[in-house]
Amino acid sequence: MSKKYTGSCACGAVTYGFDSEPSFIANCHCTDCKRSSGGEMATFAAVPDADFTVSGADTTKTYSYGPDAETCAGKGLDRVFCTNCGSRAYTNNLKDFPGIVFVQEGTLDRLDEWFPPQAEIFTWSREKWLPALDIAQYDHRAPA
Ligand SMILES: [Zn+2]
Ligand SMILES: [Zn+2]
Repeated sequence: MSKKYTGSCACGAVTYGFDSEPSFIANCHCTDCKRSSGGEMATFAAVPDADFTVSGADTTKTYSYGPDAETCAGKGLDRVFCTNCGSRAYTNNLKDFPGIVFVQEGTLDRLDEWFPPQAEIFTWSREKWLPALDIAQYDHRAPA
């Protein structure tokens, strides 16, 4: 794969690449990202769907989240994971952001190529023991 940035699932059956510099990078603390990643948050980078290539897509499965105003699922999206190892590699079919793929930074090949987050989102569900980074903070709590 000749893309500038590459990544893969844990077992390597699913690989991906893109050349674009991400337009948006966030730490998402929403409850969907907690459940699907198994951690407190997920760090993802937004890249154009047209630039995003996947190899081994037949080894992926998607699970649709949303609509949910209290998570980053928003109007709805699909989280894509490897059916062999379970790694969640990327998110697509975002109803709120057509033409964009969210790459899970934990699946990037090179640790020194993680894109630093520009914002923390869905901070209403950030765990109290986790301090905020010195970047933009978005609560996103739905009006009661
Ligand atoms: Zn895998
Ligand atoms: Zn999220």
